[in-house]
Amino acid sequence: MKQASRIEILERLKDHIKDPTTELVYQTPFELLIAVVLSAQATDVSVNKATKPLFAIANTPEQILALGLDKLKEHIRTIGLYNSKAANIMKTCQLLVDKYNGEVPENFDQLIELPGVGRKTANVILNTAFGWPTIAVDTHIFRVCNRTRFAPGKNVEEVEQKLLKVVPDEYKINCHHWLILHGRYTCIARKPRCGSCVIEDLCEYKDKVYPET
Ligand code: SF4
Repeated sequence: MKQASRIEILERLKDHIKDPTTELVYQTPFELLIAVVLSAQATDVSVNKATKPLFAIANTPEQILALGLDKLKEHIRTIGLYNSKAANIMKTCQLLVDKYNGEVPENFDQLIELPGVGRKTANVILNTAFGWPTIAVDTHIFRVCNRTRFAPGKNVEEVEQKLLKVVPDEYKINCHHWLILHGRYTCIARKPRCGSCVIEDLCEYKDKVYPET
C-alpha cells in the first residue's frame, strides 16, 4: 500500500472515530492493568460488569491481596479462564507491592515480567494509561492490517513492527484504538461491512463483502 493511502486511511479513521479510547472502564493504571488482563478472550462489556463492583471494594494491589484469591474468583467468575486469571492477578499484585511500591511500572520490560501480562497488554498499558506512542496489536488489528494491506505481517509482532515503521508519529498515540474499533465494528471477522466502510476505496482486500441488494 502506498504511504499516501495510509495517511488518508488514518485521517478518515480520525474523522470517523471521535473517541478513540478503550471501552474498558478504569480510573487508574492499576485498574486498567487488571481490566486488560481480564479481557483476554472476553468481551469488554463482561469485564466492565465484573470490575465495577470489584474496584468499588478493591482497586489497589494491596486491597486485592487483602481480598484474597477466593473472593477475587467470586468477583470474576463470569469471565472466561477466571481461575488462571485470578491466580495471575494475585501474583502480579504481590510483585507490584514487593518491587514497585504498589505502582504499575511505566516500563515495557518490567510490565511483561508480570504474570498474565504479554506484549499486547504491556503496550496497551503504556499507550492508554501513560500516553506512550506504542501500538498494541490484537486479533482485530492483525486482521484489519492484513486485509487492507495497511501493514501486512505473518504474526502480531511483524504487524506491530510494520505499524511502528509506517505510522507517522503524530498518529501513533491513537492508531491502536482507531484500528481496533474499526475492526470490532466495521471490518468484523466473519463478514466485514465493506458497504459502509469509510476506507473502502483505499482498502486492498480482495474479498470485500457488500450487502445483498
Ligand atoms: S473495505 Fe471491507 S475489508 Fe476493507 S477495511 Fe473496510 S470493511 Fe474491512
